[in-house]
Amino acid sequence: MAARSFGPVIVVHGGAGKVAPDLVEVRRAGIRAAVTNGLQLLTAGGSAVEAVEQAVKTLEDDPAFNAGRGACLNRDGEIELDASIMDGRNLAAGAIGAVKRIANPVMLARAVMEAGGPVLLVGEGAGQFAAAVGIAECGVDVLITKRQRARWATMREDNAESVGTVGAVALDRTGHLAAATSTGGLLLKAPGRVGDSALIGCGTYADDQRGAASCTGDGEAIIKLALAKTALEFLQNGEDPMAAARRAVGELTARIGAEVGIILLDRYGRIGMARNTAQMACACIRNDNADPELFD
Ligand code: ASP
Repeated sequence: MAARSFGPVIVVHGGAGKVAPDLVEVRRAGIRAAVTNGLQLLTAGGSAVEAVEQAVKTLEDDPAFNAGRGACLNRDGEIELDASIMDGRNLAAGAIGAVKRIANPVMLARAVMEAGGPVLLVGEGAGQFAAAVGIAECGVDVLITKRQRARWATMREDNAESVGTVGAVALDRTGHLAAATSTGGLLLKAPGRVGDSALIGCGTYADDQRGAASCTGDGEAIIKLALAKTALEFLQNGEDPMAAARRAVGELTARIGAEVGIILLDRYGRIGMARNTAQMACACIRNDNADPELFD
């Protein structure tokens, strides 16, 4: 018997960590805009994939988040972006790692998914693929904000502001799930380092039979526990999404001890979120709700 659909619903996060006080309100507004844009698409009959892409793109365009424009810089003072997207309907997935001049990495990840060949393209090869599918390169000046350049220049390691990876999970009207994640990674990361946000099963996963997940935080720890897939396996064992999210973060905390956060959605549209950090801005909106629910 087909599962009853409870969509549309969409949940968005703006990264786990500690937000600089002057960015708290700006980020809330960004998350609100992202989730509202995603819901608009869903209520108009758009797919979960289109909705998560649109929500993540909204935040990539917002310089207050560490994704697309506003991404943090690596050790060499360059931007290297990671992103991924997955369609729970058929397990199609696409991802890009360490790309330098792409304004909307989530759109490139989706193009990789739609092409149906390799799941993950990195560096120069990803740039060549972008040119082949008509996604234009942008100048680095479009991506690097004054704020991120200043953070890099002072090499601040006090973690006063360490958040901003973005992600979304959605359930559409036809009962299909999708997830997407996009990031500039970690400030001062090694050139060529690719984090969890580009890795299916780690930062992003969606499967109509289980649920959808997007992670944020210490990418190396998330990779070691394949956190997105691990959390969805807890869901499959009958836990509700809130309990599954907490258990996944709890297990990572106990075994690795790093800072992370996760958002989850199950196939009935039930939401889960958990973090072991000071903050993780999230918003969710369902059906015809006029206003998104916001969480810090
Ligand atoms: N997970 C991202 C990475 O390690 C960073 C973050 O979410 O803050 O690349």
